[in-house]
Amino acid sequence: MIIAEQKPIPEIAAQVRQCQKVLVLGCGGCVTVCQAGGEKEAEILASALRLMGAREGWDTAFDSMAITRQCDPEYLDGIARKVTEYDAILSLGCGVGVNYLAEHFPRTWVVPGLNTKGAGATLEAGVWEERCLACGDCILHLTGGICPLTRCSKSLLNGPCGGSQAGKCEISPDVACGWQLIYDRLRQLDRLDLLLEIRDPKDWSRTHDGGLRRVVKEEARL
Ligand code: SF4
Ligand code: SF4
Repeated sequence: MIIAEQKPIPEIAAQVRQCQKVLVLGCGGCVTVCQAGGEKEAEILASALRLMGAREGWDTAFDSMAITRQCDPEYLDGIARKVTEYDAILSLGCGVGVNYLAEHFPRTWVVPGLNTKGAGATLEAGVWEERCLACGDCILHLTGGICPLTRCSKSLLNGPCGGSQAGKCEISPDVACGWQLIYDRLRQLDRLDLLLEIRDPKDWSRTHDGGLRRVVKEEARL
């Protein structure tokens, strides 16, 4: 899922305090799971902004609601009429949601309430961590299912670098060395042979460096 966290409230307030009426719009997808931008968070944020406005003397009105997904046109069409009542949408979707709302409602000012952190997984209750950079050319079959682009701080394809110390990355003793993790896993699986081959430089044109990426599934098209 996409993982994200809320921006500091003063930063959010600075984006909307000139507006008359703002819709704080949550998303029922990934950001609900990581407790950053669901219906509950939208409601709490709207209340916090109302209080801040009352305390600081600006009188923006805030409503809140959530839709199933901000990245699907059918759900955006469902709020098209409601959106005309507001001069801004404060989106609690990930960056995709904010982009897509702005595309869908060209006459409405759309601002982000979250910082999108990447594609990640739940480690434990309340803790989410990235696991994939969406490189567009997955090589996990070569690395025991551990992504060197995400887990190695230098995204090395042939690691480790010379800075790995006692299984930790040289950037911090709190960060596991991604290549140590890969080595340990391949060793456990008796596949250290995979480390004997030098990997070629990655074809970054399959990432955003090659322009906007698009996925098309012909049989799903109408
Ligand atoms: S190799 Fe690419 S697609 Fe696979 S997990 Fe890593 S970043 Fe994601
Ligand atoms: S210490 Fe390990 S994780 Fe850190 S940059 Fe070097 S190889 Fe990558």
